[in-house]
Amino acid sequence: MSWERQVCIKSAEEIKVMREAGVINAEALKAAAEACVPGNSTWDVNAAADAVLKKYHVVSAFKGVPGPIPYPSSTCVSVNNILVHGIPSRNVVLKEGDIVSIDCGATLRGYVADSAVTVGVGKVGEEAAKLMDATEGSLYEGILRMVPGNHLGDISAAIQAFAEDRGFYLTKQYTGHGVGRSMWEAPQVPNYGTAGVGLKLKAGMTLAIEPMLLIGTEDTKVMKDGWSVSSANKKLTGHFEHSIAITEDGPMILTLLDNDEPPVVFNPDHKNRILKKN
Ligand code: MG
Ligand code: MG
Repeated sequence: MSWERQVCIKSAEEIKVMREAGVINAEALKAAAEACVPGNSTWDVNAAADAVLKKYHVVSAFKGVPGPIPYPSSTCVSVNNILVHGIPSRNVVLKEGDIVSIDCGATLRGYVADSAVTVGVGKVGEEAAKLMDATEGSLYEGILRMVPGNHLGDISAAIQAFAEDRGFYLTKQYTGHGVGRSMWEAPQVPNYGTAGVGLKLKAGMTLAIEPMLLIGTEDTKVMKDGWSVSSANKKLTGHFEHSIAITEDGPMILTLLDNDEPPVVFNPDHKNRILKKN
């Protein structure tokens, strides 16, 4: 079966529910980000997100995901060299200058929203700041290509070019993905690739785009807890993610707060129908 046949196209009603889930997920991430202060543990960061999910009676999309042990928490909280899948722990205490990636998934009436941010604890170093900027920037570069008629490779190539132009590396082992009726749907969305090739994008596709950037290597290593993924060289890592619906009017970011201005607008002047930042 081709990828195209496996990709679920969502109706406007389904996308509306995903947007509702996305707003709650964004609120959970905001609360978690605010808890990233010196002296708090990654357990505290998770608890802040968890409280928001509970307030809205939504189900965590992460808790219980099968693995070496069923995933125990509502979020992944990954500090410094941990790229993704850091298990919240009372033993991991944040200090000034750390960078923390928080990844959260919310399921509302059967529909999933998945997003992640990387934030600094207090003031961060220059390299950390550049890494976070490049990671978030590459996410938006990918999102800008999410218009009907483009190809999956356009998203991947845009992420890769933005990150590599700034001297960073991208993991090939972990990817973005379709999202909606479950947390992982077809297709995989690699953070590297060739423009103009791959699945043709259509309105109603919903994808989670998630660049994961490293310094000096693309290699990663799974830690002994079986979940946490570190950079092989133990250098800093960055991770940002949004769930996005492709619409005829361009990409609709589902995992923004309700009061966030849409950060992208359709640019009708651009010959490739690429969108640009507002
Ligand atoms: Mg995620
Ligand atoms: Mg994801």
